[in-house]
Amino acid sequence: MGRRRYYKRPMSNEQLPQYVDATRLSQQQVELTGQMLLRDLPRVSEALMVPEAETVNYSFKFTTWEKERVIRAHVVAKAPLQCERCGKRFLYEIEAKTDFGVVPDYLSLPSEGLEPVVAEAHLIDLWALLEEELVLNIPYIPKHERQDCGQNVAKAQRSQDEMTPKVQPFAKLAALLSRDRITVP
Ligand SMILES: [Zn+2]
Repeated sequence: MGRRRYYKRPMSNEQLPQYVDATRLSQQQVELTGQMLLRDLPRVSEALMVPEAETVNYSFKFTTWEKERVIRAHVVAKAPLQCERCGKRFLYEIEAKTDFGVVPDYLSLPSEGLEPVVAEAHLIDLWALLEEELVLNIPYIPKHERQDCGQNVAKAQRSQDEMTPKVQPFAKLAALLSRDRITVP
């Protein structure tokens, strides 16, 4: 698997090992649960607004379905994000439950309903898995709930946009298509 990456790991994170043997843990039906500081997950903290003491609670339950190695992941976090409307920091609640099927390489697929996770030489990078679960659930354009959002110009602009029907571009396209029908020779 190449060189291991070493992160500075404070005491609080000693409980989540980065690399684990998926085969052994699945056979033993191990569940790893705990808490980690968001700021200690490099890929996640890049996507956040100055993480302080915010944490993620995780649970990785290793099991087997038929003969397949499965990891049932559950992560819960309050991620600090910057609101695109008012520019203020707010906490966005993330809760993700995903069932992963362990596969030996990138060409293999797990059973239906399972997300693939590749184990190289039986090893799974749990930190990468945890980061992915969080990053995938961070909204592309983070915004407060409307009632919590600070007043500013951006908000007025936004409600203007929302009054414009969203179907309009497609309606135009449909009109164009019906007028100049493309004929296939
Ligand atoms: Zn806001």
